[in-house]
Amino acid sequence: MLQASVHDAIAASRAELDSARLLTLSAAHCMDRYGNRTAAQQIALIKLAAPTAACAVIDRAMQLWGGAGVSQDTELAYAYAAARTLRLADGPDAVHARTVARAELLKAKL
Ligand SMILES: Cc1cc2nc3c(=O)[nH]c(=O)nc-3n(C[C@H](O)[C@H](O)[C@H](O)COP(=O)(O)OP(=O)(O)OC[C@H]3O[C@@H](n4cnc5c(N)ncnc54)[C@H](O)[C@@H]3O)c2cc1C
Repeated sequence: MLQASVHDAIAASRAELDSARLLTLSAAHCMDRYGNRTAAQQIALIKLAAPTAACAVIDRAMQLWGGAGVSQDTELAYAYAAARTLRLADGPDAVHARTVARAELLKAKL
């Protein structure tokens, strides 16, 4: 039987992956309907959320695998490096966060 900590990791990972997926669908819908300019906040949001979710999910898997998780016996370390790179390659997290925050402040007229 799986240990409770593994259950927690699986549930948290499912929640984060589904959240990122739904944000992506929402951004795609907004782009189709209103164009990329109007969807800028949603696009920035998925650039923040999706690689962050991927890093967290892969990190949990590495932890559960122990030393093997950071060795070349599994693909996890490679996958983590790839997901982590996305948090820079498409612009740093801080820049996407600024786009999201500015749009929120505009909506709130602050
Ligand atoms: C593998 C890889 C592939 C890449 N591919 C491309 C590509 O195809 N096309 C392309 O144009 N670029 C590409 N890049 C470049 C990538 O966009 C930059 O690495 C990224 O924008 C960060 O710039 P920098 O490395 O100069 O770091 P810096 O600009 O020095 O940023 C370092 C840190 O400073 C902070 N920071 C930087 N700017 C701001 C800001 N405006 N507001 C708040 N904090 C900030 C963030 O914490 C950031 O992580 C790629 C990078 C990598 C690693």
